[in-house]
Amino acid sequence: MDGERYPQPASGGSLILAFRLQSKTTLIIGSNTLAANRAFAALEAESDVIVLAPGGEASACDELQWRMHQKQLSIVDMNALHQVADFAAEFRAYLDTLPNLALVCVTDSLAHRESNTRRSYDSAKAIFDVCRSCRILVNITDVPELCDFTLPAAHRFADLGTGRPSPLQIAITTNGQGCRLGGRLRREIISSLPQNVGGATERLGRMRQRAKLTTTPENLPVFQQLDKETSESLTPNTPVPQRSIFESPVERLQRRMRWVAQMSEYWPIEHLARLQDSDIDELLDSQVIDGIQAPPTQRTGHSTTEGFEQTDTIPSQHGLLIEQPKTFKGRVFLVGSGPGHPSLLTVATLDVLTKRATVVLSDKLVPASVLDLIPKHVKIHIAKKFPGNADNAQNEMMQIGVEAASRGETVVRLKQGDPMVYGRAGEEVLYFRSHGFEPVVIPGVTSAIAGPTFAGIPVTQRGVSDSLTICTGVGRHGKDVYIPGYERSRTLVILMGVARLKSLLEALLSETSKNRNGLAYPSYLPIAIVERASMPDQRVLVSTLTSIAEALEVLGEQRPPGMIVIGWSVLALHDTGFIDALDNDDILDHEVVEKWLSGKTSRTFEGLVDAWDQLS
Ligand code: SAH
Repeated sequence: MDGERYPQPASGGSLILAFRLQSKTTLIIGSNTLAANRAFAALEAESDVIVLAPGGEASACDELQWRMHQKQLSIVDMNALHQVADFAAEFRAYLDTLPNLALVCVTDSLAHRESNTRRSYDSAKAIFDVCRSCRILVNITDVPELCDFTLPAAHRFADLGTGRPSPLQIAITTNGQGCRLGGRLRREIISSLPQNVGGATERLGRMRQRAKLTTTPENLPVFQQLDKETSESLTPNTPVPQRSIFESPVERLQRRMRWVAQMSEYWPIEHLARLQDSDIDELLDSQVIDGIQAPPTQRTGHSTTEGFEQTDTIPSQHGLLIEQPKTFKGRVFLVGSGPGHPSLLTVATLDVLTKRATVVLSDKLVPASVLDLIPKHVKIHIAKKFPGNADNAQNEMMQIGVEAASRGETVVRLKQGDPMVYGRAGEEVLYFRSHGFEPVVIPGVTSAIAGPTFAGIPVTQRGVSDSLTICTGVGRHGKDVYIPGYERSRTLVILMGVARLKSLLEALLSETSKNRNGLAYPSYLPIAIVERASMPDQRVLVSTLTSIAEALEVLGEQRPPGMIVIGWSVLALHDTGFIDALDNDDILDHEVVEKWLSGKTSRTFEGLVDAWDQLS
């Protein structure tokens, strides 16, 4: 147990440093284009660069020569060292003349493109040994055993606003296991980041600088303390003291630094990238709105999350809403999450959940794997839709939604499946509208169709099922509902019905039932109960109308949510298929059902097809 308290270090990794090289020297041995690349990287880290080139300037590649003429680096002829009998001693003596030497990179261990020459292993080893004895770190290209360090595949982002290099760099290493793969991953990482991430970094840096400008001798110790703190402690999950209009210089510095941390944490990258200097000043110091001083106790403390919420609710921080009009009004989205598997979210729903939402009001059925996609700073309310409390929970959610939207929040009402299919979306549209918010409804994949699909049941199938009826097993205020009568060519999907299976079966089968409109259903008709469709613990129970209730009881514990599918389509795609049900008669029907159930009264199928495990 105790052996697992902290992670065990696993060898094979590297310590990745971001090496600043001001007033240090980097020695590059070689004159090829790789040497020029290394020189450039070292120059960007503000190193002095010396290139030791066998053959001196004349042998150096064009870029190195150009940089030398630009006085960015110097080139020393290495042949002088090589001609001496004891190369190692001579090399060591040379290193001794470079007191600030930090790194040595040998690049001519690669074949030179034009001359096709390459430093011998022995010579590389001699350089390595000398560097070791002088405790200078060395990298010899393509000879991993002679490397104290490797150079990761790196990239420096440009600030797309100015076209200049930004402070943001990334680096990736495979620790010698595949530099081509490393290069590719670097490309993929770059292309997956928001466009002007470089500009955003630059702007944030500037904002930090400006925030620090309030540093005075009086509050310097506070600043030093703050600067040491991680951004985590600056973006606390507990309420921070209310901003006072009589802010002391120390409080002001603290607040400005905290705001910068909040923006780094929560603001969309593109917003950050677009900040102008004037925005930055306004952001850090906006105090007065429309001529009214910010009331010091505006915050209601309704939530533990800071960030947007705080910025949107305190008028004094109005300036934080860069792109919002002054009388900013919240928005409401009514979105469907699909049947459960996160990959069944639509792109639009994912977009509002991950990029726009500041408050999410979620249905109880939406699984954690979907909720986990919502950024941490977004407050999530989950409906308390417990038995007997459905109407209360619904009203509560709508009220919270209107309150939040009135504060300027972007409210996302997240519903299982499609919001319009037994999702009370209609009531919500009207409710929000009556409170001045026109919700945007984003459809979702409904369990009524996806559920059967996951169970291998086509809701329509030529030759089997011409139509689909979706109905509920429970009416308004818990009343019974009317079930449509039997129609051979129809698939009947019943949502919210598993808990009332027995009374539903009665309504379906009894010749005299008052809860059915139309013909009674044949007792041997195939039926499926699909539980937790699309989720890893999906379970499908198939049987006939007569036997299903007992089969479900035998299974024991139920796995909500579950739905009922009834009709010939239930067995249509089984095995080699039964897709001529519409042509069959009674006698054939019995045979088909018998064959499908392999002589048993029911069959159970557990889990998802493997491929779904890999889709996220
Ligand atoms: N709006 C939802 C349905 C809400 S009613 C939709 O379009 O899917 C809730 C009912 O939907 C549940 O009682 C159950 O019958 C069904 N349901 C929702 N998700 C399900 C799932 N993953 N598997 C099986 N049934 C599900």
